Amino acid sequence: MIPAQVDVLIVGAGFGGSLLAQILAKSGMQVALVERGQHPRFAMGESTSPLTNLLLEQFAQDYDLPHLNHLATWGAWKANIPDVGVGLKRGFTYYGHPADGSATGVRGPLAVAASPGNSCADTHWLRSDVDTWLCDKAIDMGVHYSDRTSVTSVTPDTDERWQVALERIDGECITVDAGFIVDAGGRTAALADHVGAKSIPFADYPDTVALYSHFDDVALAEELPQLGAPETAPYPIDWSALHHVFPGGWMWMLRFDDNRVSAGVSVERWLAMEVNLLEDGGWERLLARMPAVEKQFANAKRVLPWMKADPLPVRLDRVAGTLDGAAWAFLPSATAFIDPLYSTGFSLTLLGIERLAPLLLSGKTSPSDLASYEAAVQRDIACVARFISANFAAFPDFERFTDVSMFYFAAASWSEICRRIGKRERAPGMLLSGDSAFWQGFADFLDGKCTAAEAIAPWNIAGLADAQKAGMYPANLSDVINAADKLGLTQDQMQDIIEKADWARCD
Ligand SMILES: Cc1cc2nc3c(=O)[nH]c(=O)nc-3n(C[C@H](O)[C@H](O)[C@H](O)COP(=O)(O)OP(=O)(O)OC[C@H]3O[C@@H](n4cnc5c(N)ncnc54)[C@H](O)[C@@H]3O)c2cc1C
Repeated sequence: MIPAQVDVLIVGAGFGGSLLAQILAKSGMQVALVERGQHPRFAMGESTSPLTNLLLEQFAQDYDLPHLNHLATWGAWKANIPDVGVGLKRGFTYYGHPADGSATGVRGPLAVAASPGNSCADTHWLRSDVDTWLCDKAIDMGVHYSDRTSVTSVTPDTDERWQVALERIDGECITVDAGFIVDAGGRTAALADHVGAKSIPFADYPDTVALYSHFDDVALAEELPQLGAPETAPYPIDWSALHHVFPGGWMWMLRFDDNRVSAGVSVERWLAMEVNLLEDGGWERLLARMPAVEKQFANAKRVLPWMKADPLPVRLDRVAGTLDGAAWAFLPSATAFIDPLYSTGFSLTLLGIERLAPLLLSGKTSPSDLASYEAAVQRDIACVARFISANFAAFPDFERFTDVSMFYFAAASWSEICRRIGKRERAPGMLLSGDSAFWQGFADFLDGKCTAAEAIAPWNIAGLADAQKAGMYPANLSDVINAADKLGLTQDQMQDIIEKADWARCD
């Protein structure tokens, strides 16, 4: 039951909404969470990254939510919540496919480990399970939850609070007086019209569409002669976020522990039109252009309906603000959706929660506080979009794509280690969005003024962009020790930190 008055009303019980609700409720706030659907339900966005998991661990500690640690590594997950669907993700893997459709021209793999072993590894979330689990935890913690509920009107009142009218599927109407409203509705931007946020395009960004589903019986890349993996691969190649990149787009394949595979493609519109991607048989027509991938799916059975996103990128002009004095905010995924290459969606959402939760808990929701939140989220989104755009431009040339990708891995590993050693301020924002020197280096690289290795050097603590490694990048803590000076430490100090740290132990 939703009470007549709450401190915060959150619209959308995806993982972001439920997580924020837990944080606020744990600190004693009255929170209402409304969801138009019903758990368990399908949701896309499954693959985590070290930053995602680090943020979950941080929330577990900062807000006394120890159960979040169960999501933070594959080992903890299997030990504590084995019934919640999961996949082992040891890193990011990429194969490059030529435009001429030849199986012999396949390049790669590029394999970048995110963990040195399984126990501390990242995961793929079976979202129907995970979102149900997180929502149930929120309810257990006193969050007032109503599903199959839609928002019919949202009106600021003279006390600078919101009068929110809700309607349940059974026709019951509820009015809630809320001090703050949060849109956690994901791509649908549930509150956009109510607060006057408008759609805007991304600058210089490809027009893309996506098609995706879940499949059984997808062959292992490692076992296919057209794909395969070298003996030097830093992890079993299929237990990763496996990607195929090709001129005009890319495909993801995320394998869950029961061997079910989440797979989908994000492609530029010209290619989608060439193969009629979003019409019947579109998937097969696209795969026919990549014989190696076609082989991988030769016996695959689709187990869910096709899902489509057209267009895939969406963006609003606002993230947070006030309307007649009443305050509101969107989680990042409600304000923009870019492209899931590099699994940035979860981290963007969690960084948004990291910034927004303290404002709500301390009552700092003045227009200037919200403007700071808005600026930080917009900066993250702009940087991710700029980076993804460069990837699409590079897809036709696998070596070029590999070079571009090194900027993600440099920023990600730098951010991870800075947070681990308590120097969070040295890694501001998603993809170092607050570090202008990093982005100047990226611009210089794109302009041909320097190589990727030169541009990322000040942030490269993971031995990246090393031609000798032939695309195989294990997660070696020795690389971090060797690069200690970049983090303002001696090698002995870094060695000492690593020896004492739980996070450095991994089987
Ligand atoms: C094709 C695709 C692949 C992706 N892959 C990845 C990936 O691998 N890794 C990654 O990190 N991110 C990925 N993402 C992004 C990821 O899905 C999002 O970052 C994440 O789902 C955001 O979580 P959320 O809780 O904010 O929103 P959502 O998960 O979208 O949840 C929103 C909830 O709000 C509810 N809702 C919506 N409107 C209303 C309304 N009006 N009233 C009430 N309830 C409402 C919805 O029913 C839903 O339950 C992907 C996204 C797409 C589209």
